[in-house]
Amino acid sequence: MQLDQIIEQSKAMGYGEIYIKMEPSVGLQAFVVIHNTKRGPALGGCRFIEYASCADALTDALRLGRGMSLKAAMANLNYGGGKAVLMRPAQPFDRVALFAEFGKFVNELGGRYITALDSGSELTDLDVVAQQTAYVSGTSADQSDPSPHTVRGVYRSMEAAIKFQFNKTSFKGMHIAIQGMGHVGHDLAQRLHQQGATLTIADKNQALAMRYAEDLNARVVAPEAINEVVCDVFAPCALGGILNKKTIPLLKTSVVVGAANNQLDEPKADADLLMQRGILYAPDFVANAGGLIFATMDYEHKPIEKADEKIDEIYDTMMAIFSEAKSQQCSTEMIAEKIAEERLR
Ligand code: NAD
Repeated sequence: MQLDQIIEQSKAMGYGEIYIKMEPSVGLQAFVVIHNTKRGPALGGCRFIEYASCADALTDALRLGRGMSLKAAMANLNYGGGKAVLMRPAQPFDRVALFAEFGKFVNELGGRYITALDSGSELTDLDVVAQQTAYVSGTSADQSDPSPHTVRGVYRSMEAAIKFQFNKTSFKGMHIAIQGMGHVGHDLAQRLHQQGATLTIADKNQALAMRYAEDLNARVVAPEAINEVVCDVFAPCALGGILNKKTIPLLKTSVVVGAANNQLDEPKADADLLMQRGILYAPDFVANAGGLIFATMDYEHKPIEKADEKIDEIYDTMMAIFSEAKSQQCSTEMIAEKIAEERLR
């Protein structure tokens, strides 16, 4: 994509600030995007993965940063949305030196952006960042892994969805298909298994899925087959864009609730498609806000119980979205986006 196009797209998404930092001596090529600070400083993780081009990296950051604004607004947090994307060098690099430079970059932004963990970054990287700036949430000293908190919110969202769709208050006998057995997917599977759910699982890393299958008493299917499994709930916990015009017609589920960010490839069209098929969709930025809620509490040194209380509120938020969507005959995604956008104005 051309730079002009990206800038136009970012304006349409409501962006005002995009920062770039390059430090070739350590291989740092980083973007920080700040989507919205009306509710408070922008908090969002630093993604550290390989990208084919700078345009891809910036586009990813822009998409994710807006999602963080929606997430924070829906969870009623006094934070805005932003994101950092660090392009992982293809050549060997000094990880400590790279993250130290990134820490200086974050510090130069003077607190308008607070960084945290994301795909590809580790708590030890944040330790390095924390030596350069106070604007960081989560270090290895306090073992601030957001994943269990994300799982808590996804689980509460799933409880709301099965209550709304099937009038059920228990997972006993329910069949859940989970895509992705990473930090979130595996923990979620364990919880659901303990509650008597029947599980079908898949991971790109088939050996990983096979390893977990016995303990979870789960059936393993190929990664490309998981969204066609006949089930009560489909839980995307791997990657974005999984719900699209090709996959939605193939779904054999009544409910979709998962942790992955940006599950809908084209939010409006895909959300409408799900609604037309009678599939109840739990908007991802509401369902997976547990990690962000925990990160904000951790940043403010609040007790973990406070985070749990707030994460549990996701159940009521989700119920309200489902009810409103039903009464207005529009998609759950559009209802949630509308509420969030209003709170961001
Ligand atoms: P993770 O990297 O630990 O796990 C992702 C898993 O998905 C990996 O095991 C990977 O092999 C698998 N995978 C990738 N592509 C796949 C495919 N095509 N089919 C099947 N499996 C595939 O990530 P995570 O921390 O468990 O997060 C899962 C999702 O939730 C991500 O999209 C992430 O952005 C989102 N999320 C996570 C958190 C959190 O606190 N960890 C918070 C909010 C959102």
